[in-house]
Amino acid sequence: MSENKLKVAIIGAGLGGLAVAIAFHKQGINAQVYEKAQQLRPVGAGLSLFPNGLNTLEAIAPGIVETLKHAGSPTRMVNLRKKQLSLKIGFIITNYANSFGLKY
Ligand SMILES: Cc1cc2nc3c(=O)[nH]c(=O)nc-3n(C[C@H](O)[C@H](O)[C@H](O)COP(=O)(O)OP(=O)(O)OC[C@H]3O[C@@H](n4cnc5c(N)ncnc54)[C@H](O)[C@@H]3O)c2cc1C
Repeated sequence: MSENKLKVAIIGAGLGGLAVAIAFHKQGINAQVYEKAQQLRPVGAGLSLFPNGLNTLEAIAPGIVETLKHAGSPTRMVNLRKKQLSLKIGFIITNYANSFGLKY
């Protein structure tokens, strides 16, 4: 296989930057990620992975969705609240996997 001479600079090691970098590397494209943050630190938030995101992750790394399924749990309900946490403005009972066509 001929070596791909294309070089790509990706600015930002966020979800988008890292996903693109992995996809480029799998295509044999030399991608360098540049991140301005000096360190990783907790943000105190959970992480929801939506079906479109899972489908994309599976395309990049086949088999990863099965691994992720064992690391979390499916979302059954979403509470919508105003900034003042006491005021609940609605909720959605959902099955994202069916609603948005999770393939895996
Ligand atoms: C509290 C919170 C909770 C969230 N929860 C979820 C969730 O559960 N599920 C979900 O799907 N989404 C969630 N999101 C949204 C999700 O985080 C964003 O949609 C996603 O991070 C966007 O990815 P990105 O790569 O575009 O940007 P980011 O993840 O913001 O990454 C951008 C990166 O670029 C770096 N950068 C910026 N400027 C420069 C520069 N000049 N040079 C070098 N580096 C630079 C930044 O430091 C950063 O690391 C949440 C967001 C927040 C704030």
